Amino acid sequence: MAIELAKRVLDRLEEHGFEAYYVGGCVRDWLLHRPVHDIDICTNAHPSDVIRLFPDHVPTGLKHGTVSVKIEGQLFEVTTYRTEGKYEDYRRPVDVQFVSELRLDLERRDFTMNAMAMDRNQELQDPFDGRLDMEQQLVRAVGIPLERFQEDALRLLRGVRFASQLGFAIEEQTMLAMKKTAPLLAHIAVERVREELNKTIDSKAPEVGCRLLNETKLMAYAPAVEMLFQLSSEHVWRLKHLQTVIQKWSLLLFAANYTTAQSREVCQFLKMSKRDSEAICCYVDLLTRLRPQWDVPESVEWGPLLLEVGWDMCSELTILLQACWWKEKQSYLSQALVDQYEKMPVKTIKDLAITGLDLQVAIQKKPGEWIMRVLESLLRQTALHGLPNTPEALLDVAKKEVAQDEH
Ligand code: ATP
Ligand code: MG
Repeated sequence: MAIELAKRVLDRLEEHGFEAYYVGGCVRDWLLHRPVHDIDICTNAHPSDVIRLFPDHVPTGLKHGTVSVKIEGQLFEVTTYRTEGKYEDYRRPVDVQFVSELRLDLERRDFTMNAMAMDRNQELQDPFDGRLDMEQQLVRAVGIPLERFQEDALRLLRGVRFASQLGFAIEEQTMLAMKKTAPLLAHIAVERVREELNKTIDSKAPEVGCRLLNETKLMAYAPAVEMLFQLSSEHVWRLKHLQTVIQKWSLLLFAANYTTAQSREVCQFLKMSKRDSEAICCYVDLLTRLRPQWDVPESVEWGPLLLEVGWDMCSELTILLQACWWKEKQSYLSQALVDQYEKMPVKTIKDLAITGLDLQVAIQKKPGEWIMRVLESLLRQTALHGLPNTPEALLDVAKKEVAQDEH
């Protein structure tokens, strides 16, 4: 267990006379009984001491006091207590100072629930009452909220994301400060913004995140994204019934009535990978063509779609459609897809009884675009309209089609 391994790090530091605590997200998540994905440790030991005590380490962020310590192959970030000096670019501290007091280290953290530390006997250090805020389901900035968001504007979106993940509200003063400092988000690298938005839409309570984005006007600097959350808000609850962020962006874009071109603009603005953005635009296009009515299920003619985009995309599309029709949930949708897929005697051009070369030889015509066009037509006819998949039948139809083309 990761926690047993992490405890060894704490033990060793303490045996050598240093303080050491679990800190930040892991403490928050333990107290909330949520899964913990990374265990961070803080200590008053100088990074040089940490390196000395743990020969098996990676100096991941020495300048900021972070050493990753390896225990049985697992890495734990050990960071020396530090405060941060002035910030630049509304994001990064210019420099950090190592300090000897835990409280000073906790003070630099963003929200009270992230500013708690726990020792190896599970005793909590909670100078900003993070636990109380968690009980009251509040996201509250540590210290003076306005200053904290001015230092680092990414915290604005982190706040929205935590509220969304935990289903919490934003404490009043923190919310006021967020509204005031919202324009600063424009200074943050779009990759970081995307990462936080992904976590927000992929959370337990995406409708909380969506409402907060609209109330704080955090995305006002990116009108296409801002409008997206405004126009789709009524359907954001459906995101919970989807599995991947690709599906989630697709549903939001469709719900906001965005065209494929507008969807591409959003993907490009957020610097999504080409692959993700292609997939999203394809789902938006398919949904737009199918025009599912909210919560009024219909049967889908899968055959042509299977030939056009293939099994994988159709199968994801059933999940999207199910979310569109959630209130009238029907379970036969994916069964209908399987049935139609199995019913098709051929599934791709490769399954046809003839190849492009056979066509060329039989028809004696210069190779060109026509080959693909004819093969695709043969595929449709064999897959969907009962044309037998034999060389004779296929060549016969092919010849007629080419003759007709030429005519
Ligand atoms: P998760 O890992 O679930 O996304 P987290 O709170 O652990 O959430 P990390 O980015 O892993 O987030 O950061 C670990 C800790 O570092 C946080 O709990 C918080 O105490 C502190 N921290 C992270 N980012 C900031 C920030 N932008 N400003 C202030 N403190 C931060
Ligand atoms: Mg973390």
